[in-house]
Amino acid sequence: MGRNGSIDASRARVTPEQRDRISKRNRALLERELLSGRLDFESRPYEAHVQFSNVCNMSCIMCWDGDNPPAKKMSPELLERIGSQLGPDLAVITPHEASEPTVVSWEETVDMVKRYSIDLALTTNMQEFDEQKFDQVKSRLEMVVMSIDSHVPEVFEKIRLGAKADKVFRNASTIARLCQKYRIECIGQAVFMTENTPMMPETVAWFADMGVPFVSIVGLNDTNRRSWHLDAALHYSSEYIDWIKNRCVATAKEKKIRLAWFLSDYEMFDFREADAPGPKHSKAGNDAWDSQMRLRHPGYCRFAYNRLRVEVAGNVSPCGLDSQHELELGNLSEQDFDEIWNGPTAQDLRRAHYTWDYPSLCKTCRYVDLAPAMDALPFLDTVLWQQWRSRRGFVAPTLEVESPQHMYRATDPPTIRLAAAAGIDSFLFALSLGGQTQGIEMIELEAGGRSDAGLELEVPNSLWQRLHSNVGYWWTLFGVRNGGTAPVARSPEVRCMVRHAPIARIDGSRLKYPDEGHFAPIYLGGDRQVGWTERGKLPTRPPLAGIGGGQPAATPGPRFAKLRKAAAVDPATVKMTPEHYQELIGQIRAVVESALPAQASIVVASKGDLELLWFGGRSAWHFPCDDARDWAGFHPPNSDWAIGHLERMRDEGAEYLLLPATAHWWLSHYEQFAAHLRTRYPAIVEDIERCTIFDLR
Ligand code: SF4
Repeated sequence: MGRNGSIDASRARVTPEQRDRISKRNRALLERELLSGRLDFESRPYEAHVQFSNVCNMSCIMCWDGDNPPAKKMSPELLERIGSQLGPDLAVITPHEASEPTVVSWEETVDMVKRYSIDLALTTNMQEFDEQKFDQVKSRLEMVVMSIDSHVPEVFEKIRLGAKADKVFRNASTIARLCQKYRIECIGQAVFMTENTPMMPETVAWFADMGVPFVSIVGLNDTNRRSWHLDAALHYSSEYIDWIKNRCVATAKEKKIRLAWFLSDYEMFDFREADAPGPKHSKAGNDAWDSQMRLRHPGYCRFAYNRLRVEVAGNVSPCGLDSQHELELGNLSEQDFDEIWNGPTAQDLRRAHYTWDYPSLCKTCRYVDLAPAMDALPFLDTVLWQQWRSRRGFVAPTLEVESPQHMYRATDPPTIRLAAAAGIDSFLFALSLGGQTQGIEMIELEAGGRSDAGLELEVPNSLWQRLHSNVGYWWTLFGVRNGGTAPVARSPEVRCMVRHAPIARIDGSRLKYPDEGHFAPIYLGGDRQVGWTERGKLPTRPPLAGIGGGQPAATPGPRFAKLRKAAAVDPATVKMTPEHYQELIGQIRAVVESALPAQASIVVASKGDLELLWFGGRSAWHFPCDDARDWAGFHPPNSDWAIGHLERMRDEGAEYLLLPATAHWWLSHYEQFAAHLRTRYPAIVEDIERCTIFDLR
């Protein structure tokens, strides 16, 4: 490597021209593989997140939280393997994985990027990314994501422990200017947290005033399993969050920038002027292609088909959200990449995403959220023009289609049901793979009457069997008059349907599934409900696993430990309406049903409520209880007493301790009891909204 980390161009193993050809070939291969439902892929990943080192110069409260791990750098042998086995095929590298790429391993990053002509997607906290480093990589820089959660120095430094706000803000301003000059996409990113929510509109304005044309506000993922209490989407009312969002959108409009709001869905508000610098050509092409794939393969996450993450020790996962190694595909220090890429776990993950039979972690993830029904897609205009030389505005969207619902998925063809449609002679059903203009299928359907004057149209099996299985066909229905010469009505939205073909789970896969009683360790925002609408009723979250199941315990960081202590709740102040309490009981029963064996013996902090002891055929006792196993009539007087009572219950056969959400205060009030539980018994469910269950066996 040359001075300043630059590499002699003559040593490049892949030239930029070769890189373009490789990327195009890979994409064409992948398209065919996805369409035919292949599990083993000849195509290779498009992007890799590589943790060249695990070192970060900060310790953010939603990440390491003051508790950074011992520093590690990737070994030269592993770097060589990544270069030789992944480098030739990769289009983009993101050198970030709960670490800061511009310290410790910056030279390795620069070397890899230049040697293989890979584009660099840089996510950085900006403390060390300055003009000199920018110059080293500007020719391969695809984008810079500036991860700065607040423009208020005090708030910023409170979130980003160890940060120097003045240095970060100075670098941010320099890099924004350089990105403008070299037309490189520059994104300001802030995680939406309780700490920074009230000032978010001002943060958006601050980015814009600095020359950042794109600001992205993203929801918090509790990847360290101790940041849930910072999740603003859980903490504030939906009206308040909406108000903040609208102020951010108004700011973006005033400043003529683009705003991404990634809290529940991908909402994009683009107010940039026509000549504003957009993403690099290759990135824009790939983003558009990914959007098309989202329609063509609903529910198939892009990280599961052509991305991956390599950690500092060589562990390979599909994505950076797999902080607990739930989806680990293999280890590049021990295996060749081909063995990992087409191993049983990788194939099973592809199968899972084709069929929506997801492993527990993906099931909680927003990347498998399905695209909503659309007002229009390109095939709609093509059909109108080719069939009737007509345009969308001339055909009333008035057909009242009752079913099938959007995202109908079944092995058998659907029956279309609609309300009576006066003045229509016949119907034309049109559908297209991914809603695009190629491969459109059209068929006239005959309507049968219903007793309630509605209509039914059968989609013929011959058409259904011609469709590719496990992919998305977007459809619309036209009502036609005058023997087929004039469309007079159409269904108001374009919906999607999938011809389902089950695929058996793959032997030897390490993936764990909800129906095996495995809960995801973290919630990744799938179907996220933003804010609460009723006081006292928090947004729902899926039940999550605790620290059991062989997973390493999440050690509370120093800051969290302090917070937890301060957050002790006086039970006398906890109020819950009778309706919410009944709802809670139902939710706890559902958790027990899916998490505990049918013969389990459970002790429950029930406060004497018999309803909290009914769990199908399982035995359940009050905790604490008297000799006759009736409720003792009081809460444990202190921790020592609770520990003694618990151990006696265990001797008498108790296998699980269940703390309903109404008794979560026990874990902060009885500190020694909580420590006793946490050091001896894994929490197999830890869900503050429903219940926590400790495995006492
Ligand atoms: S956890 Fe989410 S991002 Fe990762 S592979 Fe699963 S669905 Fe994709």
